[in-house]
Amino acid sequence: MSTMPRDTLKPSADCDVVVIGAGFAGIYALWSARQRGLSVRGFESASDVGGTWFWNAYPGARCDVASYSYAYFFRDEFVRDWDWSDVCAPQQEIQRYLRFVAQRCGILDLVTFDTRVSAVHHDEDSGLWTVRTSGGETVVCRYVVLAIGALSNPKAPDIDGVASFKGEAYFTSTWPRDRTVDLRGKRVGVIGTGSSGVQVIPEVAKLAKTVTVFQRTANFVVPTESGPMDPARVEALRKDPQAVRSGLRETYGGNLVTNMGQHRLHDLDQAGQDEALAQAWAGKYIGLAFRDAHLPEANARISEYIRARMQEQVNDPWTAHHLVPWDHPFGGKRPCRSDVYLQTFNEPHVRLIALPETPIVRIVPDGIETTAQKFDLDVIVYATGFDAVSGALFSIDIRGLGGATMRQAWADGPNNYLGTMVHGFPNLFLPSSAMSPSVLSNMATLAEQQIDFIFDSIDWLERNGRPRLQPRQASQVSWREQTLHYAQRRPGALTTKSWYSGANIPGKPRVFMVYCGGFKRYDDICKAELRDGFPGYDIVGDERA
Ligand code: NAP
Repeated sequence: MSTMPRDTLKPSADCDVVVIGAGFAGIYALWSARQRGLSVRGFESASDVGGTWFWNAYPGARCDVASYSYAYFFRDEFVRDWDWSDVCAPQQEIQRYLRFVAQRCGILDLVTFDTRVSAVHHDEDSGLWTVRTSGGETVVCRYVVLAIGALSNPKAPDIDGVASFKGEAYFTSTWPRDRTVDLRGKRVGVIGTGSSGVQVIPEVAKLAKTVTVFQRTANFVVPTESGPMDPARVEALRKDPQAVRSGLRETYGGNLVTNMGQHRLHDLDQAGQDEALAQAWAGKYIGLAFRDAHLPEANARISEYIRARMQEQVNDPWTAHHLVPWDHPFGGKRPCRSDVYLQTFNEPHVRLIALPETPIVRIVPDGIETTAQKFDLDVIVYATGFDAVSGALFSIDIRGLGGATMRQAWADGPNNYLGTMVHGFPNLFLPSSAMSPSVLSNMATLAEQQIDFIFDSIDWLERNGRPRLQPRQASQVSWREQTLHYAQRRPGALTTKSWYSGANIPGKPRVFMVYCGGFKRYDDICKAELRDGFPGYDIVGDERA
């Protein structure tokens, strides 16, 4: 890691870098900036660090990526000095961990909390960015890192009468943190059965008098890896965290999965397939077990197997049938993980409503009306998801070259190069955005990789006379094509309605937002740009421009 020259800033720059957001990527970005000798300010809309792990404080929220690799590896001490209580750590613990890391890194003082960034404008003459906040502050800087997360803008529920409800209403994405929500003895309706709904519903059922689950689309639900951490695996991680860090980037998904891709289903006979599928299910790694899971034939077999296991867990045949996703193949959108969700529907006070058969007509002051009946409710829980990626980005007034807005640049959907930069917005960086390995990888590994790439790029700019960097238009076109190419090879990716392609938001352009080419391939392409002096970019202010 090189140290940058601390020569004088342009007179109008208040600092080198502004980092917006203090979740996994933001914390590491703040540390990286300071470590490389750059002056940095941070802004965070929440009152503490954590990002996703601050806001999604709903009962049952926990990470369904194993704690062995869903963590930072950039300093050995974070691997050696933190003990995870479970392979699937609960939300509060991950938030505590992020605070622990932020404290140890000494970056908390750099962040202004409870402050939303409202505008980020580029000035072509000076090459600087002006960042304005909800608190009325203005900061001028050379580089902006928008570490605002992909799933940070809750989707407004598109149902008539939402505001008319007189009972208590909660969103999983902004669950109250300052008090305990008391659901004891209450009649609770839950709308939404994605990853958040699947986690919150069993917890609601422990307390509520009745739980009515309003499901529009069923999802695949596979077992979690939850349980005590294996001391031998923890010891192995602690022995050489930096080797683990490099190793994570050599994988497809940025995860340490010991049982990944052992078989090709196609190579096994029927009995062999049955045995391998049963082992993968019992080992809780069915999503990752087969090297040919992306091929239609194997995927169909895996999907069929999971549907059967799901149905077995539910006593009532109608409910069992309706909890199973028949409309899309496994992996077409993000599978949910739970060991208790499906069995929750065996409890007498929990009822599934299949909205395709009896849609919600409206929300009324005392409940929810469907075409079949009215449900009297004391509480409604919305687990209705997010306006992914562009939702958070468009909540900030971002203007680049020629005053063009990010909304204009993304009028046809997300458009970027390598997931991190947008043509027309020089020196503005977007970790965790569209067209990166995103949620098809481990977001913690991705945060470190992208922030390293971003700050290695900044490092290069600082060493080369501080020109401005922006991707070429042609690079963006080609990157979109590559993202589409890999999505086409993934069963159901382009045909399944999900937030991956913007299909959960009415009117949102449909662009598949996750790069499925694998973490290693992605990392190699980023490294090649750095090594070869940014052939995919325009460098404004450099003789090449
Ligand atoms: P989601 O996957 O988008 O699910 C939203 C749910 O709400 C869907 O079932 C959707 O139905 C339903 N819905 C939305 N609007 C509706 C309406 N008007 N009427 C009826 N139903 C409606 O959102 P999420 O569950 O919050 O998960 C989002 C992502 O966050 C996940 O894919 C995952 O990447 C991440 N996440 C991770 C974890 C974890 O690691 N443990 C936990 C939670 C979330 P349709 O499908 O029919 O649209």
